[in-house]
Amino acid sequence: MSRFWSPLVHTLTPYVPGEQPKIANLIKLNTNESPYGPSPRALEAMKAATTESMRLYPDPEALALRTALGQRVGLSADHVFVGNGSDEVLAHAFQALFAHGDPLLFPDVSYSFYKVYCGLYKLPYRMVPLTSDMRIAVEDYTGPCSGVVIANPNAPTGIALELEDIRKLLEMHPDRVVLVDEAYVDFGARSAVELIRDYPNLLVVQTFSKSRALAGARVGFAFGQPDLIEALVRVKDSFNSYPLDRLAQAGATASVEDEVWFNQTVQRVMASRARLSEGLKSLGFEVLPSQANFVYTRHPDRDAGELAAQLRSRAILVRHLKGERTMAWLRITVGTEEQCQTLLDALRDCVLCNS
Ligand code: PMP
Repeated sequence: MSRFWSPLVHTLTPYVPGEQPKIANLIKLNTNESPYGPSPRALEAMKAATTESMRLYPDPEALALRTALGQRVGLSADHVFVGNGSDEVLAHAFQALFAHGDPLLFPDVSYSFYKVYCGLYKLPYRMVPLTSDMRIAVEDYTGPCSGVVIANPNAPTGIALELEDIRKLLEMHPDRVVLVDEAYVDFGARSAVELIRDYPNLLVVQTFSKSRALAGARVGFAFGQPDLIEALVRVKDSFNSYPLDRLAQAGATASVEDEVWFNQTVQRVMASRARLSEGLKSLGFEVLPSQANFVYTRHPDRDAGELAAQLRSRAILVRHLKGERTMAWLRITVGTEEQCQTLLDALRDCVLCNS
């Protein structure tokens, strides 16, 4: 506590990111990165961008990237916003769209950064509990609100909603924005982007960090009607008009243009997810039906925290989130086939040696 701090800072409870270890050779299944490298075309584009032109500011509008992203889903660039990771896109959206006095609604459990933005921007919020089987029930999102935020698929459960459910939310709150956080949508769920033409209150947020393996470049984006995008641009230009550097813009644009690499790597992750889920079930674990690049799993008679610690001692990192609804569970990123097998072998030992 410091007398120099603004009063707001005393009230903040910041997000605690997953561990980014400083030692090499760990099997890192804790922060949902891709186990595969980025598109080779993205890497080439980033190398090509490291020229003398780095002395110049980047395009503040990131027009090439926004155009490429829009084209992929049949929207013009004025329907697309980009920012420094979807975390920053979410931050701008919370500030630009949800300060209407009423509480913002989002699930309990979901991405824990949502609460943090509410703290930062002093937004009241109400967390709507998941059902007993860890699902989002959209009919529970009633009452006056400043907006609704849904991660689809949800994190950390990996369970996805049907598009019809998103449509219901949009129709339940026509005067409020429904933000669908699709960080993990590419691994088998259906995107709400196709609803944008019909719903001016829909904002869809996605990222290059997962399915495009560019977490290190920090690029996120949003699709919505131009009216919503303009609100985000106003906040961005009041904060940092150059959120994306030249390398990130070049790499992300080239990545969008490499559909073959994208489809191949996503398919590989989905195939490994199926095998990992089966392997876990055969060891007695319960596994939620995931449409993301991670699985959420628990063992009926093993302590999740202890399992995570045992795995760590074998150089395997998984995520154990503390908290009442999450304490019994492990969130495990889908790695390569080999990594998944090493994990399953280690878990088999942990489960057997404790029995
Ligand atoms: N939304 C969800 C649901 C996430 O899990 C994450 C990443 N942990 C993000 C958004 C942010 O991703 P990024 O800032 O890397 O785009």
